[in-house]
Amino acid sequence: MKILLLGSGGREHALAWKISQSPKCEQLYIAPGNAGTGNCGENVAMKADDFETIKTFCVEKAIDMVIVGPEDPLVKGIYDELKADSRTKDIPVIGPSKQGAVLEGSKDFAKAFMQRHQIPTARYQTFDGEHLEDGLRFLETLQAPYVLKADGLCAGKGVLILPTLEEAQKELKEMLGGMFGNASSQVVIEEFLSGIECSVFVLTDGDHYKILPEAKDYKRIGEHDTGLNTGGMGSVTPVPFATKEWMQKVEDRIIRPTVEGLKAENIDYKGFIFFGLINVEGEPMVIEYNCRMGDPETESVMLRLKSDIVDLFEGVAEGNLDEREIAFDERAAVCVMLVSGGYPQEYKKGYPITGIDQVEGSIVFHSGTALKDGQVVTNGGRVIAVSSYGKDKAEALQKSFEEAQKIQFTDRYFRRDIGADL
Ligand code: ATP
Repeated sequence: MKILLLGSGGREHALAWKISQSPKCEQLYIAPGNAGTGNCGENVAMKADDFETIKTFCVEKAIDMVIVGPEDPLVKGIYDELKADSRTKDIPVIGPSKQGAVLEGSKDFAKAFMQRHQIPTARYQTFDGEHLEDGLRFLETLQAPYVLKADGLCAGKGVLILPTLEEAQKELKEMLGGMFGNASSQVVIEEFLSGIECSVFVLTDGDHYKILPEAKDYKRIGEHDTGLNTGGMGSVTPVPFATKEWMQKVEDRIIRPTVEGLKAENIDYKGFIFFGLINVEGEPMVIEYNCRMGDPETESVMLRLKSDIVDLFEGVAEGNLDEREIAFDERAAVCVMLVSGGYPQEYKKGYPITGIDQVEGSIVFHSGTALKDGQVVTNGGRVIAVSSYGKDKAEALQKSFEEAQKIQFTDRYFRRDIGADL
């Protein structure tokens, strides 16, 4: 099979690593990829949302399957674009239709969907600029802290958690006044939920689903979860509180109603669903949906998937996912993200990265890297994910921390407390 994988981060390197191990994969292209994905297949200089170029490439290279890594092309409708073109309509796409991607693209849609299907989530209401006064009054009915969410995609920056009513009311005015452009023309206000978060991933063909190992990610830049939010500084799987009983609740109350709800609403959805969950006194509740795998969760979860991922993707494409084998490694897996100094604010790019070839006990996934005159250089905020197996979380983490020390670049930073709270 000739496969095209879209994206350029650590998630895509981990997917490429797994896909390239499949005997069913004859040729893998990654667009645009990074310095690491080039070791798993052929990088193609094509943007993940340049649909015309992608379609022409699919025809020229006789691509048999397109796998979409990031949310952006999904929310912009890559699935529908390929289906609407007679040249590419029969190529299976792993990733939902534009309508399905709205689960991630609109928080208001996601919340209303959960309400329609009785899926446990925080109480909420949505307001637009014409209903600011109603929004200010709704805030008065809630208790501190206050959660305000821009409806549209904001690259992880559109959620504000405010400690006082005054601040929440001020921010609501600013958000509805255009703080995040069109993305905050509507704002979801919801109840604050207190608990530990956990990401659960599902692959679905629209009828059946397979649940992948759950993971916890670490969003803040500083140790002990302090400082600004990032794309994610590390991940750990399994998550101790996600016991068999807890996961059964997740499946019964959240996963199955979501897949059945999508089907009942005639939403074409073949791909990953990422459930951002929170454990509220033993009960799982949904914080958010994403329409793709998580980054950096993929960099640990892929280590635990023993089955052939391309076989699973084939099951998604053919609608017989229930007939495919899925098995997991019992070991723990973790990922520690090495980032550029200054990230998630301003940082420099182009620093040479050394020591990757010294790493022995871990798997190195590139995130923001590029090749410059044959040298791997930094090319983003999150640069390298160091992923490891261990008999338990502690052993895996020790390995990742040790191996991370071997990889050097100017102003390199990583959190040394990943997994410490579990
Ligand atoms: P991401 O970067 O994960 O895509 P996002 O911008 O899509 O984030 P959410 O995941 O909905 O937004 O919220 C971001 C974070 O804010 C959550 O991971 C969680 O820590 C916190 N959060 C969101 N909603 C609530 C809530 N109701 N109660 C408590 N914390 C919340």
